[in-house]
Amino acid sequence: MPEFQGVDFLRLDDLLQDEEKLARDSVREFVSKEFLPLLQEHVRQDGSFPMSLVPRMADLGLFGANLQGYGCAGMNNVAYGLVMQELERGDSGLRSFASVQGGLVMYPIHAYGSDAQKDRWLPALASGRAIGCFGLTEPDFGSHASGMRTRAERRGGAWVLNGTKRWITNGTVADVAIVWARTDDGIRGFLVEKGMRGFEARDIKGKFSLRASITSELFLHDVEVPEENLLPGVSGMKGPLSCLTQARYGIAWGAIGAAMACYDEALHYAQERIVQGGPLASKQIAQQRLVFMLTEITKAQLLALRVGRIKDEGKLHHAMVSMAKMNNVDVALRIAREARDLLGANGIVDDYQAMRHMVNLETVRTYEGTHDVHTLILGEHVTGMRAL
Ligand SMILES: Cc1cc2nc3c(=O)[nH]c(=O)nc-3n(C[C@H](O)[C@H](O)[C@H](O)COP(=O)(O)OP(=O)(O)OC[C@H]3O[C@@H](n4cnc5c(N)ncnc54)[C@H](O)[C@@H]3O)c2cc1C
Repeated sequence: MPEFQGVDFLRLDDLLQDEEKLARDSVREFVSKEFLPLLQEHVRQDGSFPMSLVPRMADLGLFGANLQGYGCAGMNNVAYGLVMQELERGDSGLRSFASVQGGLVMYPIHAYGSDAQKDRWLPALASGRAIGCFGLTEPDFGSHASGMRTRAERRGGAWVLNGTKRWITNGTVADVAIVWARTDDGIRGFLVEKGMRGFEARDIKGKFSLRASITSELFLHDVEVPEENLLPGVSGMKGPLSCLTQARYGIAWGAIGAAMACYDEALHYAQERIVQGGPLASKQIAQQRLVFMLTEITKAQLLALRVGRIKDEGKLHHAMVSMAKMNNVDVALRIAREARDLLGANGIVDDYQAMRHMVNLETVRTYEGTHDVHTLILGEHVTGMRAL
């Protein structure tokens, strides 16, 4: 395969600032030269991530890239989105690692943490010296996380946490878990640290999807968390939901990366593969597939870029992010399926990317608000009525 050059049918590069292109290109190179050569081994070993790359990812400013201060890169939201796109061009597991660390762990500490929490955790998380995870989902509560059973009760000067969180990215490697729990004052966020008594994480095995990513279950049995580990600045579902808006924004871009990888692979494959005396690319049905892919990628790029510019102007509504996440993941998954099909039998082995992206995108369609949940968010936004 020739080196990946990006997909830019409508000259969107003309709309990007130099520093945005620079951020994208440096991550593209990292993914091609440093990440992809390691990936196959980790995909074959369910639930493993190339942790040796964490310091390099930190050097590239990939953790909390759109946050200011504390050693963060302070990129604008379009540069941040392009970085997420390039990471997911490599693998959704790579983008998930950066999304969780930045959007789901560093963001809430940055937005709602005390000065002491920020000073202690943000530089460590930005530099990759510490890893974080985000514990919202429970075995019985995913889409409707507000029904959570995990509880925090005040005892003396501390909080005591009990409950189970499931499907938690990076749970077993995390030094700190942002755990959302029900209290008498509503839902609150707690910084639960590795090694606290009664806190245990175990990996979930047997995944077909997001194999190069660690997914865990967190168990909290009478875990005593000091008052200074409570996130002081937020209560209610606004806390976790505002984090999810950050991460979902990154996913809207990331899905484009997965789709571009599949399109690029399918295009080159179709040009080389000879069927019935001619290149597959010369056949009408193959061209129809490739044109569908290119058109949907281009529409997804326009959507993400516009949402990014609006976010930088401070005028973002969370329903806009819902549309971008819902649409871009949906089309990326359809593109990955088309690409897999076009590759024939070769499409089912891991020497090619399409099927890996396809099964990864099944997770991406489910997490951070399922496709249905974003449809319902938009439905409520346009009608003013919450669907039953
Ligand atoms: C690999 C992986 C990593 C993850 N990482 C994290 C993480 O780091 N932290 C974290 O907290 N969570 C994480 N999650 C969990 C993820 O966010 C949830 O799986 C997701 O919110 C969906 O919840 P659920 O699986 O319980 O599905 P459910 O909520 O049970 O949904 C099942 C089906 O019902 C549909 N549905 C739900 N509500 C409605 C409705 N009102 N009307 C119609 N249809 C509806 C859904 O769209 C879906 O099709 C991860 C999940 C995976 C797979």
